[in-house]
Amino acid sequence: MSFVFEPAATVAVPVAGSDALFPVRRIYCVGRNYAAHAREMGGDPDREPPFFFCKPADAIVVVPAGATVDLPYPPQTADYHHEIELVVAIGRTGHDIAVDRALDHVWGYGVGLDMTRRDLQAKLRDKGRPWELGKAFDASAPLAPLHAAAAVGHPSVGAIWLEVDGQMRQRGDIDQLIWSVPEVVANLSGYFTLQPGDLIYTGTPEGVGKVTRGQHLRGGIDGLGELNLRVV
Ligand code: MN
Repeated sequence: MSFVFEPAATVAVPVAGSDALFPVRRIYCVGRNYAAHAREMGGDPDREPPFFFCKPADAIVVVPAGATVDLPYPPQTADYHHEIELVVAIGRTGHDIAVDRALDHVWGYGVGLDMTRRDLQAKLRDKGRPWELGKAFDASAPLAPLHAAAAVGHPSVGAIWLEVDGQMRQRGDIDQLIWSVPEVVANLSGYFTLQPGDLIYTGTPEGVGKVTRGQHLRGGIDGLGELNLRVV
């Protein structure tokens, strides 16, 4: 037997300080996981259960350390938004994972962007339709190299920030997550069997906003490095 055409290469993200690559299986994303962002999106910042959406693995744009990568402005939007996020990389299979065992399933962490066609997302949300057109488009998931928990531990505090053309747009701390990393992993694993290679974008602090062609995005999280992109 043979394939009818060459299958796509496995999406893979560099590991910081190593030649190794982290092969990506799925991308899960958490909605509204910082209170001030939930409020700016017109939501209730109380601890409702977390909610999730997905992006395809091939939406990742790898942003190597020290590089500035071109980010293509997507079609069908006039309101293209940045959302800087802590990304959790899963390294061990599990379902119905207990909160106090959740970190055993986490391989590492990185800095990512949940790029969003906000105008489409808002229309879909208001009509009760799925979010894919607003969230799961090509190149919607830029990601910096991943850091192994074996090297950096399991960060639960640290600044998370994003600048556009040198101006601070988003600034928060990962200790402001409404649902912590262990709680997110535990909750999500009640709906899906998590597998090695899964990534979880854990939500964004307040200050999301529009970017246009030619603008430079620079973001980071304490201890996990930075990413640099130019919208083209
Ligand atoms: Mn997000």
